[in-house]
Amino acid sequence: FSNMDVDVAIIGAGPSGAIAASLLHQQGKRVVVLEKQHFPRFSIGESLLPCAMQFIEQAGMLDAVEKAGFQFKNGAAFRYQNNYTTFDFTDKFTPGPGTTFQVQRGEFDKILADTAAKQGVEIHYGHTVDHIDLTHEPVISVSTEDAQQYQINAKFILDASGFGRVLPRLLDLEIPSNLPPRSAIFTHIEDNISDSTFDRNKILISVHPQHKDIWYWLIPFSNNRCSIGVVAEPHLLARLQGTLEQQLMTIVNEEPGLNRLLSDAKVVQECATLKGYSANVSTLATDKFALLGNAGEFLDPVFSSGVTIAMQSASMAAATLLKQLDGQHVNWQEEYAAPLMKGVNTFRTYVQAWYDGRFQDVIFYQQANPAIKQMICSILAGYAWDTNNPFVAESERRLNTVVALCQDNDPV
Ligand code: FAD
Repeated sequence: FSNMDVDVAIIGAGPSGAIAASLLHQQGKRVVVLEKQHFPRFSIGESLLPCAMQFIEQAGMLDAVEKAGFQFKNGAAFRYQNNYTTFDFTDKFTPGPGTTFQVQRGEFDKILADTAAKQGVEIHYGHTVDHIDLTHEPVISVSTEDAQQYQINAKFILDASGFGRVLPRLLDLEIPSNLPPRSAIFTHIEDNISDSTFDRNKILISVHPQHKDIWYWLIPFSNNRCSIGVVAEPHLLARLQGTLEQQLMTIVNEEPGLNRLLSDAKVVQECATLKGYSANVSTLATDKFALLGNAGEFLDPVFSSGVTIAMQSASMAAATLLKQLDGQHVNWQEEYAAPLMKGVNTFRTYVQAWYDGRFQDVIFYQQANPAIKQMICSILAGYAWDTNNPFVAESERRLNTVVALCQDNDPV
């Protein structure tokens, strides 16, 4: 590999990198994607939100995703003790897709990246970005697996490196998240679920019967397998004994609904754990770089918002960058960072209210007002940037009004 000149260098070929690369390439920009791994590779984050389908379509990837045979998804189900409630994502306030998929991310991410490559995007696998020089136009130092090194001169860098967080680390942009550190333990199971009432078209979020801030995901796939995981503050998991698999199964069986549902399940993948994944940055973009998806802020997995935020950021950054590359003046804070954070902060309101119990009281409220439920459903379906939705425009105030109503009438 020799040195090259491009318009845009993108670090990482996950969802945010692949979508951004495709959108820029379609507008005639020379893009190169550097990806340190080889695809397919495992990634966590398997439950998509319908809002993300818009970006997949915008990038010309909808056909390929629809043909892949992933598990159809039309909503989310929540269980706490004997309370079970569902959100149907087609019954929502904001216009736009109401269904999506539950995906094995290795396959899904490969489909997006391969489709971008078919469109003509240059992707180099096994190439790691080690260093950046922003003194003049950006210069990116890359190393290959066989220890070759080369440099890329780019007009702009998009950091789509996910938890790799390449630019936040190299440019010292990292700041602590305002959410407490949490841990997740997860795996894939052959679920052998015989309960015919179990709805495979929805993610099931279950709450621990004694600790309302411990929760589990169960994400059915189309091949009789599920992704299962638990999320909690580390001190609440410290009592668990044995291997990771034993720890996960012990805590899964503490929730009677999951214990019953998964009585014949078999673990088919090595259990893994992630700790302290919530992250934040001091700067999301300047006129030389922008952070996409998880390379910017990552909140929490409870509402499956990660891939949607990643794709939304890719779409917004590509639109802003096209203006800059065409010679227009761009204010990255006003045109990219602030509008992106509007939606991220909507999710933040709901994440915080989930853990302090307020939003759980709303979710499990029995006499929900249908119009209000549609507005909340829009946010759970990923439409967290739709400021026509009062629950986006004034997320904290509106949510607290509903919380008060639910807690007065039907405390769970
Ligand atoms: P990624 O998909 O992480 O891609 C980044 C890529 O960059 C990787 O392929 C990596 O190899 C590459 N890279 C890294 N460093 C370098 C380097 N130096 N040089 C070159 N390449 C590099 N989201 C959901 O939408 N739904 C869920 O159900 C969900 N569940 C989650 C559960 C947990 C426990 C956690 C922690 C997260 C979850 N998420 C979920 C979030 C989701 O995983 C991420 O938000 C999503 O993968 C972000 O996509 P991305 O494109 O930003 O980065």
